[in-house]
Amino acid sequence: MSTTPRVISFHYTLTNKAGEVIDTSRDSSDPFSYMEGVGQIIPGLEKSMALLSVGDKRKIEVAAADAYGTHDDQLIVEVPRAKLPNSDQLQEDDQFQASGPNGEMLLFRVVTIEGDNVKLDGNHPLAGEDLVFDVEVIGVRDASKEEVAHGHAHGPGGHHH
Ligand code: ZN
Repeated sequence: MSTTPRVISFHYTLTNKAGEVIDTSRDSSDPFSYMEGVGQIIPGLEKSMALLSVGDKRKIEVAAADAYGTHDDQLIVEVPRAKLPNSDQLQEDDQFQASGPNGEMLLFRVVTIEGDNVKLDGNHPLAGEDLVFDVEVIGVRDASKEEVAHGHAHGPGGHHH
């Protein structure tokens, strides 16, 4: 086994269990690219993708726990409006980063604003959702030294600087 991580390019269409399309790379001419082993894609998908070869097409089901996590009621919090950035202009669906209960940075979304009380939700919008990825592997190659140093894939479908 080579110790160089691989960069995998693939097209995908992401749907929830109800069959509703959430996201797709088919809108773009370039497939999505990621480097293995650095958490660029959700763990449940990366594990299944690692077994595929160029040209393979698969439907990969990923349970919520291996996707964006289960829904955590503790991440729904109420805070006084004055404690939030840009509190004067705050609107529902605004998002900002703040530290969660374990100190990790989370993206919080404003759910409701009632007077001075703001309800925030730090769950990922797809938390609690079982997902289905319809994938086609387009390319597999070794990561470059630069990609390894940066911790992400470069080029079409990857990170642009
Ligand atoms: Zn880079």
